[in-house]
Amino acid sequence: MKYDVLVIGGGAAGCMAAGTAADNGKNVLLAERNGKIGRKLMITGKGRCNVTNACSLLNELIENVPVNGRFLYGAFSRFMPFDTMDFFEEHGVPLKIERGNRVFPESDRASDIVDALNNFLKETNVKRVRARIVGLNLSDDKKLIISAIDENGNEYEAEKYIIATGGKSYPLTGSEGDGYTLAKQCGHTITELKPSLVPLETSDSWTGALQGLSLKNISITVFEKETYREVYKDFGEMLFTHFGVSGPVILSASSHMKNMYDGKYIIETDLKPALSEEKLDARILRDFSENANKSIANALIKLLPHKLIPVIASLSGIPTDLRVNQITKDMRRELVYLLKHFTINIKGFRPIEEAIITSGGVSVKEINPKNMSSLICDNLFFAGEIIDVDAYTGGFNLQTAFSTGVLAGKSV
Ligand SMILES: Cc1cc2nc3c(=O)[nH]c(=O)nc-3n(C[C@H](O)[C@H](O)[C@H](O)COP(=O)(O)OP(=O)(O)OC[C@H]3O[C@@H](n4cnc5c(N)ncnc54)[C@H](O)[C@@H]3O)c2cc1C
Repeated sequence: MKYDVLVIGGGAAGCMAAGTAADNGKNVLLAERNGKIGRKLMITGKGRCNVTNACSLLNELIENVPVNGRFLYGAFSRFMPFDTMDFFEEHGVPLKIERGNRVFPESDRASDIVDALNNFLKETNVKRVRARIVGLNLSDDKKLIISAIDENGNEYEAEKYIIATGGKSYPLTGSEGDGYTLAKQCGHTITELKPSLVPLETSDSWTGALQGLSLKNISITVFEKETYREVYKDFGEMLFTHFGVSGPVILSASSHMKNMYDGKYIIETDLKPALSEEKLDARILRDFSENANKSIANALIKLLPHKLIPVIASLSGIPTDLRVNQITKDMRRELVYLLKHFTINIKGFRPIEEAIITSGGVSVKEINPKNMSSLICDNLFFAGEIIDVDAYTGGFNLQTAFSTGVLAGKSV
């Protein structure tokens, strides 16, 4: 059977593209390699799915896509965050808006978003097949795709094809980068694939001792070590892991760290951003006077998490068994400075598999931004993370997937 449209990949972008094309009267087949659609969607926002960002200005939206944001002008202007919100509310998912305009399902369940997409596919009569597409049959001049072939040799014929296979991160969800191979087969250029929104490795031997420690309400500033140029500032939560640091502020910071190499960046952490150095000093003095005969380890217990105390004491040069009444004013000053400028030396990014998104992909120079069609192959379109665009956290990546999905779906 020959379909009007074959959509390859049933993630956020592919489902939106397939449903939209079918809603516009096309006979659509959606090929998804997993038994279920939206496996990556299920783990977004720690299982709560930050489905979009409720920003209403097109320019603001584009500013939150630091790589090739202008390319998305057409896709965003046709399908804005409020369209995404309307779509999900109309499909039975009440939404709520949290800090930073982040939009979540009221239920805090990503599965509600996946259910809504499933319903969209059902009501628009999208046909579905469980198939991993591994190759394309092309015309001799490579200008047309004749059919797509799955790993068992089955062929799927369509008038038009949308590749929406996502990036390379979190491959267990099904996104292993197959789409890049398919796009290359059609003559497309794939720009360098790199991790973005990714945890960071550190070169400080003490970070391992802090594994599992989560610091909430801290502020971080990323500097280029050599020039001390400020690159990024944020406030929120950071997590220590066996290799270094992760958590929301770190993931966001990573997308501002360009041309990474070992030693290029440091992160200064203010562990007590609500207190000025003077107030922090006064607070420590009070804790010390209440614990004059105790060791520093005991005296800091109210101020710092247990795991952090030996590390802070060691970095400040104060022996952990020293009695508080033996601590000099200079030692205390050193301690205050350290708590306000706790410095982490960055070695590099964690691998792409651990990144929230893949930076790089099908070159935007080879895609028509007005309709997501390939400028190389006449019946090919792209949608979602496979395209060389990357956005910040806050719901902007899913909005990108939905907007490009809708545009590709309408255009076919
Ligand atoms: C842990 C985590 C949390 C995240 N949280 C958020 C968040 O809260 N908000 C946000 O905006 N973004 C978030 N993101 C990013 C967001 O999930 C992605 O940007 C988005 O899912 C991209 O959508 P997509 O449809 O392009 O790709 P995907 O969602 O990756 O979907 C691609 C689909 O294609 C299928 N596929 C792949 N190859 C083939 C093939 N050869 N044949 C058939 N099917 C194939 C895959 O199985 C998959 O289902 C998060 C990402 C991760 C990893």
